[in-house]
Amino acid sequence: MQTAEIVAIGSELLTPTKTDTNSLWLTELLNEIGIEVKLKTIVGDDEMRLEETLRDALDRSDIVITTGGLGPTEDDITRRVTARALELKLEFREDLLEDLRERFRSFGYEMPEKNRQQAFVIEGAEVLPNPNGSAAGMMAEKGGKILAVLPGPPRESRPMFVNHVLPRLRESAGTISVRRRSIMVSGLGESKLDELIAPIYTQYSNPVTATLFSRTEVEVQLTATAPTSEKADALNAELTEQISEKLGIAVFSTNGETMEEVVGRLLKERGETLATAESCTGGLVGERITEIPGASEYFLEGVITYSNEAKTRLLGVPADLISANGAVSAQVAEAMARGARERAETDYAVSITGIAGPEGGTGEKPVGTVFVGYAGPDETMSMRFNLPGDRHLIRWRASQAALDLLRRQILKRG
Ligand code: AMP
Ligand code: MG
Repeated sequence: MQTAEIVAIGSELLTPTKTDTNSLWLTELLNEIGIEVKLKTIVGDDEMRLEETLRDALDRSDIVITTGGLGPTEDDITRRVTARALELKLEFREDLLEDLRERFRSFGYEMPEKNRQQAFVIEGAEVLPNPNGSAAGMMAEKGGKILAVLPGPPRESRPMFVNHVLPRLRESAGTISVRRRSIMVSGLGESKLDELIAPIYTQYSNPVTATLFSRTEVEVQLTATAPTSEKADALNAELTEQISEKLGIAVFSTNGETMEEVVGRLLKERGETLATAESCTGGLVGERITEIPGASEYFLEGVITYSNEAKTRLLGVPADLISANGAVSAQVAEAMARGARERAETDYAVSITGIAGPEGGTGEKPVGTVFVGYAGPDETMSMRFNLPGDRHLIRWRASQAALDLLRRQILKRG
């Protein structure tokens, strides 16, 4: 198996606010053609450290891919440093300069002189065109090693990699394909889940199975290796089927769909509609649902009723029901869902009322106590959750619990 490493270049990637995401899709695409990523490095715009990193990378790995630092400004050093690491010269390409000038002209500008340096490329390197930006990429080979130099912005680097680098790598990669598939599970703890499926997946060494716990769900990730991507997919499909059969309705997706996409698809397929009534999540369920294009087909309205008075005025929750049971209660969650469904005249409504903290918890109802209400054509009901985490996580988990309850109720109706 050929080995690759990725060097993400840019000082902004070493700040607390920016992360390197290029290496994620690069790794996925490299794995698919059977190239293993052995190392990732993030280097600031620092000539010495970058040169050292690149020399080491070219020593260790068959394929080195860099992203970033191809712009026209002072901190864009990738061009000259990659050349130096390969012990090759930069050559000036008149045709690239002309392309750059033309690019600026097409936007109605004169090319600033600064951009001239983007017309320098490593001698002998293949120039990778960039229809989405001014920085052309480069692919150089030396001593059996391949170095691909891509721009930083994903919308520029990704198509460049897919169209120009990947086909070249595929030629030399040989005949191994690695494919991943995720089985997304909700409403089951990690250990309970493992107890159920370990007897199945331990019978397989290929695919390899890993369970990953994220903020609201458990992901069972399968990684299959085979001579072709079709065969690897088939291996994943077989195990996916067995695990899904065991877990039943707890599996909400096996094809990359998010919870809100699944719920949206179910509603759309059935021609049914939804309303939401949210308290402690402040519209998060509505936000997640409307994130999906075409949500207007099934999502009619959502209300954020934060105060008791709003629950009464906008949803018709009786004031004495609230004073008798507290705003965070099964009774109020159900009345909110019923009120939302009746007022919006939808097939379904879901509601959330809870204590996201950090204050407001009591002995009986500690922080993380969340009631999710459901109203549908056949019944109104609610569920109580004790959600762990800080305010942010509790709100997120509550939104997931509401979407999952809705999903399960819809499926239960058949
Ligand atoms: P540059 O090519 O260095 O001028 O990078 C331009 C922009 O690309 C940066 O400001 C980032 O927004 C983005 N970028 C650079 N490197 C990465 C990376 N590894 N992952 C995601 N975005 C990146
Ligand atoms: Mg940069």
